[in-house]
Amino acid sequence: NSNIISFEDIVKHKTEDILRSVAKPCVIQDMEFSVTASAGIAIFPQDGDDPHALLRNADTAMYRSKRKGRNTYEVFTPEMGDVVMKRVEIDNKLRFALENGDFYLKYQGLMDARTQSIVGAEALIRWDDKELGEISPDEFVPLAEESGLIVDIGNWVLDTALASVKKWREHADHKDFYVAINLSSRQFRGKDIVKDISDALKRHGLPGSCLELEITERILMRDVPHVINLLDQFKEMNITLSIDDFGTGYSSLSYLKRFPFDVLKIDKTFIADISEDPDDAALCEAIISMAHSLGLSIIGEGVENKEQFDFLDQRGVETIQGYYVSEPMVHDEFLKFIAISEWLETTV
Ligand code: C2E
Ligand code: CA
Ligand code: CA
Repeated sequence: NSNIISFEDIVKHKTEDILRSVAKPCVIQDMEFSVTASAGIAIFPQDGDDPHALLRNADTAMYRSKRKGRNTYEVFTPEMGDVVMKRVEIDNKLRFALENGDFYLKYQGLMDARTQSIVGAEALIRWDDKELGEISPDEFVPLAEESGLIVDIGNWVLDTALASVKKWREHADHKDFYVAINLSSRQFRGKDIVKDISDALKRHGLPGSCLELEITERILMRDVPHVINLLDQFKEMNITLSIDDFGTGYSSLSYLKRFPFDVLKIDKTFIADISEDPDDAALCEAIISMAHSLGLSIIGEGVENKEQFDFLDQRGVETIQGYYVSEPMVHDEFLKFIAISEWLETTV
């Protein structure tokens, strides 16, 4: 009978009450603060018949709700347990992937919208495990970050990407080619990153101008003076700094102004709906004009078709990235691609 309220409904209802009261803003010294909570629900006996199993499963559900965007709850399902098993397996394998040589990089072309030539590439890590197959960086990078392995992996990415850009720059038409790499917040702990990067550039005999560092807002939330200090040192080395996935986090452009960025990458979720959703189009326009007035150059990412390309180009976006321009490719493919795209230009 659908009129009977289940135990699960009661628990959900109570959880909503709790989340609501936790989220009530409080005032401390005239400033308003609010805290949010995430909850996970596991119910006896179906989700565990002893306290340990119940708590573990409730914990799993809570992590799921945190990932969903916080201030919400999730009820445990057995599939969530499978996901956790997979995470544990990935975590164990990750430790050996670097020594086994199971990582490789793909490069995605960055196109100058005005000249329509490829001026650089973003390096994207790939992991091909013998048993699990290809594992997406969205899955393993967060785990590598938790365990700290991202520091060694990041240095491998840096070294490999610099070797590639060095090769591309040997080509007469690509002397100014650059490579962009992604950094994780863990790499910003301490000061090692500055030395690691400057050593790597020296080792390859490359100037800082061939490197762009992509930094997400998560990195900026940490110890601000420390991060600014590191970024300033990168600037002194002539390295380009870009803010990645702009629009997905909480920072405003005025907040970003405190950091010495050169480039802003508009997140692909905004670009995706430019042609259909007037709100996203308006947001993109506002971001573009504000970024420009702050002296930032712009990369539009996730550009998949001509409408999106034209929209951004017409509004003065300098650089375009996405499947419309080029798929991510392994080093050799990419080398062919930049030679061919140049050949296409001369033959058209
Ligand atoms: P990201 O930095 O935002 O990278 C762009 C992602 O969008 C890439 O996913 C790329 O393959 C994908 N993409 C490119 N063009 C298009 C398009 O036209 N449409 C759509 N829908 N997607 C497109 P990927 O390679 O799976 O990487 C996912 C994320 O993993 C990256 O997002 C980045 O945050 C992280 N990542 C990748 N490589 C590294 C790395 O070497 N170090 C660190 N720390 N993170 C990395
Ligand atoms: Ca990126
Ligand atoms: Ca991005």
